[in-house]
Order: sequence, then structure tokens, then C-alpha cells
Amino acid sequence: MRVYVSADMEGITGLVDADDVQPGGRDYERGRALMAEDVNAAVRGAVRAGATEILVNDAHGPMRNLLPEALHPAARLVRGKPKRMSMLEGLTAGHDALVCVGHHARAGALGVLSHSFMGHEIEDMWLDDRPVGEIGLVHATAAAVGVPMAVLTGDDAACAEATEWDPSVATVTVKYARDRFAAELRPPGQARRAVEEAVVAALAAPPVAPTAPPDGPVDLTVRWQSASVAAVLLDIPGVTAVDARTVRARGALPGLYRQFGVWMRVAASLTGRPPYC
Ligand SMILES: [Zn+2]
Repeated sequence: MRVYVSADMEGITGLVDADDVQPGGRDYERGRALMAEDVNAAVRGAVRAGATEILVNDAHGPMRNLLPEALHPAARLVRGKPKRMSMLEGLTAGHDALVCVGHHARAGALGVLSHSFMGHEIEDMWLDDRPVGEIGLVHATAAAVGVPMAVLTGDDAACAEATEWDPSVATVTVKYARDRFAAELRPPGQARRAVEEAVVAALAAPPVAPTAPPDGPVDLTVRWQSASVAAVLLDIPGVTAVDARTVRARGALPGLYRQFGVWMRVAASLTGRPPYC
């Protein structure tokens, strides 16, 4: 069994503030150590479930948060950026399950450190008119590759979002949002044990591959904070305007996900703010 782990940071046990998850932040060094603990709990679960190959992709910000020497020796690490598949770099149809660790709710939701892919530049997103954030887009993209999301860990808002998107995803709530930068925390040891056990249980029965991979075209719609970003994106063939700040493209995943990565690079160059994830 081959297991793919997409590791984000905002939904990690104990972390609540930008200072915890951004390089240079006062508690970032402690944050990245806590991130490794949650990821390692998932890796231990995958090993216990019989995984023969585990690939961990650092999917947050600079994508160099996890220190290689801190990672469980059973896992390989994808580190650094840019990566054309971003939060899913290295995912192939040969993987049996996707495990998302430390993910977070979409922009506009009252979840810890909620946002969608960029810090402030993206106000809303839709996939086929269904409101979507990182969780839904990662789920749909992995499904198109042929890999089911088996487990997701994060705060209660992120877990609710994953369940709403796909009730078959096993979720582990490691903290309860009190606001965007405040949470009631489960004790770290207890949260990590819950992550490990959830991964063991979810992988015990091989996850069912998506019954109908959405290989047909889908609509991805993004409302930007800046009309300037939307205007420039309209010069990309296939991108159409919904309104002055909202653009849409139709295509098949995972290619459309990669094109969205190009949109973010355009937005980053115009706003001076890098994609965040
Ligand atoms: Zn992140």
C-alpha cells in the first residue's frame, strides 16, 4: 500500500496564530516542530496499517517547514517550491490513499487561520458553483488522479468542511475554533494518538477509489480581492469574466488545478504576496 500525506500547517495541533505558522514569526520554530509531530503520528498510523511506501509533501507556505531529520524514517519528504502540483506534488494513480494533515477551512469560514490558497487575495472560490477551498479542491484533484482522501486532520471547522464535501472522509479534530486566531486545544499527546488511530482505522480497509473520477470538465471560479488581478488573468486563453473581480475557467482536473497555480503566480506578482496555502 502506498500512502500520500499532504501536510499543511494551520490545522496542526496547538497552532492558532500567524506567528505560529509563518517563518520569522515568534513561535514558528516551535510550530514546525509541532507540525512534524502530527505528520509523524499519521506516518506511524500508515506503517501500522501496512503501508510499504509513504510520501509526505510539505504543502504550507515556503514548503520548507518540515525538517528532514525530524520526519519519521519510514517516510520520504517532498520539500521546497515551486511545485506544479503544489499541495499534491508527487501524487500518482499508484497511491492508494491521501491523508491530509493540518488542513484548514476555506476563506470566509470561522475556522482557525481560515483562507483559500492565498492570505487575503482570494475572497471566494467555487467548483461547479459549489463553494470550495483548499480541502475541496485538493479532494477533487486527488479524485481526478484516482486517489481517495481517506483522512483529514485540522480544527473542527476544517473537519466539518471535509465531511460536507465527502462524508466518507475520516476526520480528526485536534482543536476547536474559538475564532480565526483562537482555539480550544486538545492536549497534544491525545490529539496525536487520535491522528494515528484514525489513520490505522481508515487504511485498514483499503480506501475505495473514487467511483466516478471527475475526469470531465469542471468550472473553477475565483473571486479576487483585486479587480487588477482579475483583469490580467483575462488575458489567459480560456479565462472568462464573471464580474470585475471574478474569473472562471472550464477544464479537466488535475490540469485545471495546475492552471490555478499559474493564476496564483500572476496574483503574487501583481500584489507582491506569495501563494500561502
Ligand atoms: Zn498552510
